[in-house]
Amino acid sequence: MPVSHSVDREPSEATNSTENEHQNQTDNDDRPDDGLPINELFYSLQGEGTLAGVPSVFVRTSGCNLRCWFCDSYHTSWEPTHAWMSLEEILAEIESYDADHVVLTGGEPLLHDASADLLSELDDRGYHTTVETNGTIHRDAPIDLASISPKLESSTPTPERDPRSEIPEESRNGERRSRGAANRGDGEWEQRHESARLDLDALTELVETHPFQLKFVVTDADDMPEILDLLAELRDAATVPIRDENVLLMPEGATRERLAETRTRTAELAMEHGFRYTPRLHVDLWNDAPET
Ligand code: SF4
Repeated sequence: MPVSHSVDREPSEATNSTENEHQNQTDNDDRPDDGLPINELFYSLQGEGTLAGVPSVFVRTSGCNLRCWFCDSYHTSWEPTHAWMSLEEILAEIESYDADHVVLTGGEPLLHDASADLLSELDDRGYHTTVETNGTIHRDAPIDLASISPKLESSTPTPERDPRSEIPEESRNGERRSRGAANRGDGEWEQRHESARLDLDALTELVETHPFQLKFVVTDADDMPEILDLLAELRDAATVPIRDENVLLMPEGATRERLAETRTRTAELAMEHGFRYTPRLHVDLWNDAPET
């Protein structure tokens, strides 16, 4: 089973302030100058992408500039919670595990200035780093694999796609859903999410600067025209080749039950278009257990 002995501090519940995109969903209490809002830090197997199956330490930051209705880490987006940790504390936790791969994830980890500092420190120590990003922010940082998951129109939280159906009363962290969650999903994030979910300049810079994989969450065949259009735009804009083998289709679903509905169709679409299929190993192995 995945293990964790970290982030045992009292978590603080972040605000939903919308004043600053790059500091959103974080609070100022107890914030170390060089720290990050950390929601989870744990050891598990990488579940997705070209490194699926590799033992890795996961550092999950809190805060996201998007609000996908199906977000499976809503405790970093819709209901952000975190403990502030200094870089020194984060590095000490990482070094306590016997792993040479680190996955920086979120939320959107590149929201935070200190993520670049953490990545530099990890690079100096010889770690392989993967950054799981939604592709809307580029930072000058050493990254061994940019795992970019551009969000499709089907991610937008319209009143019809109510995130309440995805947020259980008792969260994966054992946190209770706040009363505020009951008010999500009436479309208040629809416009912001829709206008921010794709940034071709940031996407282009990410693929030009780092080894990368493009990971698309697929619900059904209706997602394919948008994926193909975006790929065509990116291939026109980028000065590096975007090969089909760099394009991964991943079934939508954070539970075994939901994956059973989406994975075969997604695998067939990958074969049809010559893209890679990626499993969600952590869901197959541990369903929706926390820290996996
Ligand atoms: S970009 Fe990722 S973390 Fe942010 S809301 Fe979407 S799925 Fe959740």
